[in-house]
Amino acid sequence: MKILISACLLGQACRYDGKAVEKIKLDGFDLYPLCPEVLGGFSTPRAPSERRGERVINSQGEDVTRGFVQGAQRALDLMEKEKIQIALLKENSPSCGVHFIYDGNFSGKKVKGKGIFTELLLEKGYRVLSEEEIEIVKEERNGNRKKSDQ
Ligand code: SF4
Repeated sequence: MKILISACLLGQACRYDGKAVEKIKLDGFDLYPLCPEVLGGFSTPRAPSERRGERVINSQGEDVTRGFVQGAQRALDLMEKEKIQIALLKENSPSCGVHFIYDGNFSGKKVKGKGIFTELLLEKGYRVLSEEEIEIVKEERNGNRKKSDQ
């Protein structure tokens, strides 16, 4: 089963602060790690950014929407090229957030919402899960294995 995954979830230090997040375990899948922000031309480390409506603003007040949209589009191109149907993305990110993002005021407060990349994938009909839903893909894989054993 092919899964596109936020690269930071596999321990790649592509987060805005240059730190790696704890690496998740996902054996038995064909994983395609990528970071839409790196694909959008942003360096690491970089100023943190948050969504403000349809725009993305960094902590220095710069409008960085264009890079976020470009990165999301490039990541989508890879999904299409590789025929990947599912993405497992990092919650709370302005690119990858699936259910929650920060509120746009750099206050540390989370609100319901989606990242730019997640939104694009959902618009195109892809399935998107957050890393907090990892058990769902594991269960589906185990179910598929059982079926193929029958
Ligand atoms: Fe991770 Fe996505 Fe942020 Fe890149 S854009 S660091 S993959 S959460």
